[in-house]
Amino acid sequence: LFISFEGVDGVGKTTQVERLRAYLEAQGRTVVVTREPGGTALGRAIRQMLLHGVDGGAADIAPRTEALLFAADRAQHVAETIRPALERGEVVITDRYLDSSLAYQAGGRELTLREIKDLNLWATNNLLPARTYLLDMDPALSHSRLQHAEDRMESAGDDFQSRTRQAFLDLAAAEPTRFRVIDASQRIEQVWAAIEVDVETLLKE
Ligand code: C5P
Ligand code: MG
Repeated sequence: LFISFEGVDGVGKTTQVERLRAYLEAQGRTVVVTREPGGTALGRAIRQMLLHGVDGGAADIAPRTEALLFAADRAQHVAETIRPALERGEVVITDRYLDSSLAYQAGGRELTLREIKDLNLWATNNLLPARTYLLDMDPALSHSRLQHAEDRMESAGDDFQSRTRQAFLDLAAAEPTRFRVIDASQRIEQVWAAIEVDVETLLKE
């Protein structure tokens, strides 16, 4: 079973990923929790380049280069971590997956959805999650939750965050079978309750 969490920065993805892990492990399932970018050793090197530049300086990364680096991180993540775990019959939960590229690299920037999607379907050899939880909230709110911008992406303006949020919502509307949109402005317990109800039905499928 392959599950992804998506949403803009600061919506509480990590907290809910850990909730879901605890819930599934309590049922005796083996769970692999992972993240993008940086779910593998190679991916952590790519993450460093993407978020903090090269040689101590902020790299001026061209949009196509950025899309390829995120896709390269993802290709390695699928090959090294996700597919082997799924083949062992384990549950894989990832904090971000290809929808992040569709929302950020196509939604927020200048590349088209079609080209980012084709690139990422190739990179993952068409591996899609069975379920994607989109944690949705007003970026003005989620942004204020972040203590400080930790990298160049998080420092991007609210306008960029708003466009990214809308891009995520559009993706969810286009694939209602895979996505569940969760109102992440609710209390942590309520957000988890919404996920728990859905996961129960998913496990019965
Ligand atoms: O979720 P995490 O904080 O690890 O992501 C690191 C940064 O990269 C975030 O600021 C996120 O907005 C950005 N990002 C991106 N494109 C992706 C994935 C993440 O711009 N495909
Ligand atoms: Mg972050």
